[in-house]
Amino acid sequence: MSKILIAIDGYSSCGKSTVAKALAASLGYAYIDSGAMYRCVTLFALRKGAIKDHSFLHDEIIKLLPEVKLHFEFNPHSKSSDTYLNGENVEKEIRQMIVSENVSKISTIHEVRVQMIAIQRELGKNKGIVMDGRDIGTNVFPDAELKLFMTADSDIRTQRRYDELSAKGQHVSFNEIKQNLLDRDYQDTHRKENPLIKANDAIVLDNSELTREEQLKFILKLIRDLTISVN
Ligand code: C5P
Repeated sequence: MSKILIAIDGYSSCGKSTVAKALAASLGYAYIDSGAMYRCVTLFALRKGAIKDHSFLHDEIIKLLPEVKLHFEFNPHSKSSDTYLNGENVEKEIRQMIVSENVSKISTIHEVRVQMIAIQRELGKNKGIVMDGRDIGTNVFPDAELKLFMTADSDIRTQRRYDELSAKGQHVSFNEIKQNLLDRDYQDTHRKENPLIKANDAIVLDNSELTREEQLKFILKLIRDLTISVN
């Protein structure tokens, strides 16, 4: 079967990137983390003082956009792609709480979305990618051959993010993480432009009770069925 586009959307911290990475590795596809792009813009705006105490200097942020250059590089050690902002590996910095607290507001800015979506479409033009985010199946690649909409119980999502941050030495309380997830879900589902909604043709995957292997098996079966129906 020729290469396809796989779009994975869903709520914050429901394991989209974990399953997307495993899927990309098993298919020999590239994995693209679209959330990392919005996180880079947020980190850049924070560093340049365009976000202060949760207030956003909207015009300043827009003016900074031409200076934001993003790329991904495969890291053989972690076996996944690292995110680079203006040539600097920012994989760790963009996962910090300060970035998580501000990214959903940054992602409501029209000019930010236009720039990020143009990069995403360029990366996907030759297919053979798995991209995760919030509007990939609905807006970035409405013609993607396979669309998944992922969800999981909010306490399970919080625990997963808590474990992930703790493993990286970032100590944030369970309640603070949970509040951040719920706030981001609210903002992402209620924004005007490209909100997080399930595409009509997306398949729902609730992974609250599923292991990574079970999720992968489920998705690979969907791809096999797709192959049969296409050929
Ligand atoms: O996927 P991740 O949680 O890293 O995304 C961070 C934020 O970036 C999301 O909460 C959302 O506000 C924004 N985002 C978006 N559209 C995407 C991907 C992420 O608005 N396609």
